[in-house]
Amino acid sequence: MKNILVINCGSSSLKYQLIDAENKAMLARGLCDRIGIENSFIRQSVNGSKEYRKEVELPDHNAAIKEVIKALTDKEYGVIESLEDIYAVGHRVVHGGEFFKSSVIIDESVIKAIEKCIPLAPLHNPPNITGIKACQKAMPEVPQVAVFDTAFHQTMPKEAYIYALPYEYYEKYSIRKYGFHGTSHQYVAERAADLLGKPLEETRIITCHIGNGGSISAIKGGKSIDTSMGFTPLDGLVMGTRSGIVDAAAVLYIMEEENLSCNEMNLILNKKSGLLGVSGISNDMRDVTDAKDNGNERAELAIKLFNYRVKSYIGQYMALMGGADAIVFTAGIGENNPDTRYECCKNLEFLGIKIDQDKNNKKDDEFEISTDDSKVKVFVIATNEELAIAKETVKLV
Ligand code: AMP
Repeated sequence: MKNILVINCGSSSLKYQLIDAENKAMLARGLCDRIGIENSFIRQSVNGSKEYRKEVELPDHNAAIKEVIKALTDKEYGVIESLEDIYAVGHRVVHGGEFFKSSVIIDESVIKAIEKCIPLAPLHNPPNITGIKACQKAMPEVPQVAVFDTAFHQTMPKEAYIYALPYEYYEKYSIRKYGFHGTSHQYVAERAADLLGKPLEETRIITCHIGNGGSISAIKGGKSIDTSMGFTPLDGLVMGTRSGIVDAAAVLYIMEEENLSCNEMNLILNKKSGLLGVSGISNDMRDVTDAKDNGNERAELAIKLFNYRVKSYIGQYMALMGGADAIVFTAGIGENNPDTRYECCKNLEFLGIKIDQDKNNKKDDEFEISTDDSKVKVFVIATNEELAIAKETVKLV
């Protein structure tokens, strides 16, 4: 049985899914939360029905992994008999820097390289490494694979990823655009090529991953040639609480006027900006839309700004690729919000993009929303990062 355990480790949480990689079925999903703090627990559901929940002390990630194995093999709530039914473990790792251009089987040298990327993702890479080590300890015989958020974008040409800063900062500190959400962009681009009925190598696809965090990628011949997130996930689109593009000089000015430290400014840019910052209402598109519908002008402005930014990138990436065969919308907003999709594609007939509003108002996992005569096909494709990680893992082991 090719069951793959997919692990996504945060500093105090561990999300997991067990996936049958042969038929793509998700057998179980779960969460260990409040690791290292009081009131920790594990919860697991199987096929969305049987819910298992246990309040249990989870002092560290080693304890969490043990509980995951117990839950998966539980006589009543479990889905497998023993550890032997786990073929491999796939770990989501946020930052692979310039070391990793694709997923890899984890060995000591891989862990060392992920450690070297800690300055680039200080909040994410350390718990990712902790999760890997905990799994190695609990399942020494089972191969472990690292799948990086950044790896897919390592194909960008240098002019796309270098900032026009003194070059020494790239050399000294690796300051450059990396891009994120790579697993999702890659997954939906592959699905879009299937829907187009073309080999991926012959396609030009723009993938819009828009949820609470958001990024857009230009994917030519299956390779990322540009993406909207940068050195960190702050850059690019307007997001739930992140600003996206801002003139760096404006940031310096605010810091000086408000006497803010780097940490305080970082918090403002990452947690208090975006939809939340402009609307003053919420980071959640549904709340902001409700407020707009009730006449709130700042909510309306936040939504306009959000759509404006997505549309600007679509134009930019069409220019970079000399057109596009498909545009894909994915993630929470991309999958569920027809208004966003419509507004981002409106009046782009001159680029060959035409939306069919009846199709756009449908709901499904994968569907086309462009008119039959639209030169550029526009799709909604539900992303599935866990399945993508499971597939990568199978490919390698
Ligand atoms: P994500 O980060 O991918 O979970 O996406 C979160 C965003 O998706 C939030 O702004 C939500 O408002 C939006 N979203 C999620 N589900 C829906 C839905 N059913 N209808 C409209 N927006 C949704």
